[in-house]
Amino acid sequence: MNKNISLGTGLESFIDEELIWSEIEKASNPESSLVRDVLQKARERKGLSPFEAAVLLKNRDLDLDNEIFQAAIEVKKGIYGNRLVVFAPLYISNECANQCEYCGFNARNLELDRRTLSPEEIRREVEVLEDLGHKRLLLVYGEHPKYDAAWIAGTVREVYSVTSRKSGEIRRVNINCAPLDVEGFRKLHEVGIGTYQCFHETYHQETYRKYHTGGRKTDYLWRLYAMHRAMEAGIDDVGMGALFGLFDPIFEVMGLLYHARQLENDCGVGPHTISFPRIEPAQGSELAFNPPYLSSNHDFKKIVAVLRLAVPYTGLILTTRENAAFRKELLEVGVSQLSGGSRTYPGAYSDPEYDRPDVQQFCIGDSRSLDETIRSVAGEHGYVPSWCTACYRLGRTGEHFMELAKTGFIQKFCLPNGLLTFKEYLEDYASDETKLVGEELIRKELENYSDPERRKLLTDRLARMEKGERDLYL
Ligand code: SAM
Ligand code: SF4
Repeated sequence: MNKNISLGTGLESFIDEELIWSEIEKASNPESSLVRDVLQKARERKGLSPFEAAVLLKNRDLDLDNEIFQAAIEVKKGIYGNRLVVFAPLYISNECANQCEYCGFNARNLELDRRTLSPEEIRREVEVLEDLGHKRLLLVYGEHPKYDAAWIAGTVREVYSVTSRKSGEIRRVNINCAPLDVEGFRKLHEVGIGTYQCFHETYHQETYRKYHTGGRKTDYLWRLYAMHRAMEAGIDDVGMGALFGLFDPIFEVMGLLYHARQLENDCGVGPHTISFPRIEPAQGSELAFNPPYLSSNHDFKKIVAVLRLAVPYTGLILTTRENAAFRKELLEVGVSQLSGGSRTYPGAYSDPEYDRPDVQQFCIGDSRSLDETIRSVAGEHGYVPSWCTACYRLGRTGEHFMELAKTGFIQKFCLPNGLLTFKEYLEDYASDETKLVGEELIRKELENYSDPERRKLLTDRLARMEKGERDLYL
């Protein structure tokens, strides 16, 4: 790795704004034959260049848009089948020294009730989440000089140490915190984090400067190279994202794709996941109530579909920022990971007076419980909710995981393993109604299983689970 990247000095942006604008210009009003050529390539699951993604996004023909959605559905099904990874965010601290104009945690918001969970409070939150059935958490932090990498690592250790009744344990902790230096990332790697996630918010430098007016986050390049540093520290899985609503969405999609490409060139592997949060109203932020670049639902759905086609093997994460009805549409066109039953402030899961706009980061669009979300995902869509963490625990991460994903591994391992975790959920946590729906889905899945040997393996393990064994995988 380039020494400058580790040191964070002498760096230049690899986001070439002139090039992006010229490609957007070239992609404008694309001929239908060009759109179809790009779709043909996308169906072969070879991914798309940023320019090709812009061609699809610039298309304005509704029939062709439907072909884009159809291609995304096919690619998603072909790679991920009907499995959907489920997680919940856990806010550890809303104390923040930065001034991000769109965020309720920004330092200028004096109305916000600032909280950082103590080790006991973390344990209480994790117990509640485990009792709901969660196995995968995303820990979220504001950025404050009081809380360094060693402290963050300590909170991760605390989370992993909590085991509660039944099969309650957190098997994968992902992190969404401000960028660290290589040493700091090493500390997170040592305590066994899964994915390090950090959103660039906007790739457009001038807009970035405009909305980040104070604190460490004002440094565009420090953030831009965060994934490189994380990988240098040994973290294999990194998650990128942009905050949609701040700037031209097509520019942001291209920024994401150039970022992914640079990471792959420099580190040998691209992002494990991409997130596409849309700005939600947040108390203490005028901007969040009036985002300058609001996408329509149709255009936003197209962004998700195009990302699915452009980076077919990268996980796409959908959060509860979007409402339940729209989440259902987005699931179909490309999402592979979903949060459920989320709450967005420290202490929220164990708060008897839940629903406090004066402590939360932003307003949630989908407030269904985890149980309701799972019932809808399984019953209405026929998706298998998965809490599987087998790959990560067996060292199948980063480059290794990408290679496996390309050879149909997801269908062979992730689907049956997902089913096993779903069974665990149904046995230990689901309501009666959800259990009925879930058992029916498992029955259908087994019926459709083409490989008799693996079907037998799976049937045996499912039976062992009914007898009380837990945490079984292939
Ligand atoms: N403080 C760290 C940082 O900024 O990287 C990590 C946590 S921050 C709470 C997580 C993400 O929330 C941000 O990167 C941003 O994309 C998103 N976010 C902030 N304000 C938001 C809003 N009003 N609506 C939706 N998402 C928002
Ligand atoms: Fe702080 Fe992150 Fe919110 Fe910015 S986005 S104010 S850094 S918590």
